[in-house]
Amino acid sequence: MSTASPLIRGYEVVIGFETHTQLSTASKIFSGAATAFGAEPNTQACAVDLALPGTLPVMNRGAVERAIRLGLALGSRIAEQSIFARKNYFYPDLPKGYQISQYEIPVVQGGSVSFLLDGQPRSVRLVRAHLEEDAGKSLHEGMGSHGVLGHGQSGIDLNRAGTPLLEIVTEPDMRSSAEAVEYAKALHRLVVWLGICDGNMQEGSFRCDANVSVRKPGGPLGTRREIKNLNSFRFLQQAIDFEVQWQIDRLEDGLKIDQATVLFDPDTGETRAMRSKEDAQDYRYFPDPDLPPLVIAPEWVERVRGELPELPAAMAGRFERDDGLPASDAALMTQSLAFAQYYETARDAGAPAKAVANWLMGEVAKRLNAAGAGIEACPVPPARLALLLLRIQDGTISNNAARQVFEVLWSGEADDVDAVIAARGLKQMNDSGALEAIVAQVVAANAKSVEEFRAGKDKAFNALVGQVMKASQGKANPAQAGEILRKLLALP
Ligand code: ADP
Ligand code: MG
Repeated sequence: MSTASPLIRGYEVVIGFETHTQLSTASKIFSGAATAFGAEPNTQACAVDLALPGTLPVMNRGAVERAIRLGLALGSRIAEQSIFARKNYFYPDLPKGYQISQYEIPVVQGGSVSFLLDGQPRSVRLVRAHLEEDAGKSLHEGMGSHGVLGHGQSGIDLNRAGTPLLEIVTEPDMRSSAEAVEYAKALHRLVVWLGICDGNMQEGSFRCDANVSVRKPGGPLGTRREIKNLNSFRFLQQAIDFEVQWQIDRLEDGLKIDQATVLFDPDTGETRAMRSKEDAQDYRYFPDPDLPPLVIAPEWVERVRGELPELPAAMAGRFERDDGLPASDAALMTQSLAFAQYYETARDAGAPAKAVANWLMGEVAKRLNAAGAGIEACPVPPARLALLLLRIQDGTISNNAARQVFEVLWSGEADDVDAVIAARGLKQMNDSGALEAIVAQVVAANAKSVEEFRAGKDKAFNALVGQVMKASQGKANPAQAGEILRKLLALP
């Protein structure tokens, strides 16, 4: 955090995040009701989720364990005792009138999230991460309401009520929308990597609230406005960029910023005030009398620590050190656990590490992106890609031919690398006698290029190699063709 902050119209941007991650437990945080997404409205909320009289909440161990995992991964303190409180407010999607949350003593305290911004290491400190229950959802006609709602009607779906959330709160350490996006991506990658959240942003499993203010460099912190519920990285960046300009416009007009909660409208690209921000005292927090303090024994923490997977940063470091990958490649190979596993499996099958990385970032990423899919959907298994890359390495096929084979493998037309190479006649010409004959022909037929090459033009040499490739129908090994050419054209 020592690098100078980028200024916008002479102002420094200050951003802090509150991220609600839905924990991937099968049942709710205080009840046995299911948490599955997309069920018929109001089929998954039980009496406990609605706090009907006579019910008592019971803490879900799985939710606590997930919080511990995140805390350990981020170098946080895990509180031996933390407290659940009632946050009192009324909203249609919270008919019980309060949300059970952690207030004074959260389960996870401190820690930090590290990532690269323009290739530079950055770190954002966490204040805390606390466990709480999600609220229900307001539905409006046509909005996933299973056709129940007619024109102009709204309804409440309480299925989400009681879904476990871990709210992760940062210090106001970020200084640009680009940094905010990298932070959010790093946190998202980590919660999915740790298996504590499914990361599905469209379904609301990972929702970011961005607190944004601006100030003159060196001045006191400005008043913040909080942009709620950003559920895509693109919206997140757009919303912050708009908000920053809006705040600067106001200050430049001599007006002041009022603390407020705002919503981002993706259709207009604008943020709009929703309500003036409540203060903590408005919520009348008090310890929930129905829940005892959450006690986490050190042995539990140690067991979870022992079960943590290798973390993305450590793995990327290993790929740099042991496989010789550049840092940017290593970062891409660890974009998800599934991606890293694909890379490692292909490398372990004998393919050169850098070739695997190049193909994953090139041919594979291109097709996955076009399909909007993750590596899990890659139809070519890692061992098969490895074999293809070995066939380039041992000189059987050229890069170009390999791309053709890959297309066949991807389409599912065939799955045997060597059979495809043979059937399509893609084997490189490794018979140097035949290749010499072709090179001689090309030299004879391209006197002009030969002249130019002799006059020192490298371009002419490449043109000649191109001609050899053409004459051999792409089967010549370009490196070998170049070698023979040089020999043949060598000045006496
Ligand atoms: P509250 O309890 O009202 O939600 P917090 O003090 O917990 O307020 O802060 C909430 C979030 O706002 C945190 O992520 C924090 O980093 C961020 N934040 C606090 N002050 C500012 C500020 N002046 N500008 C930008 N973000 C801020
Ligand atoms: Mg808050």
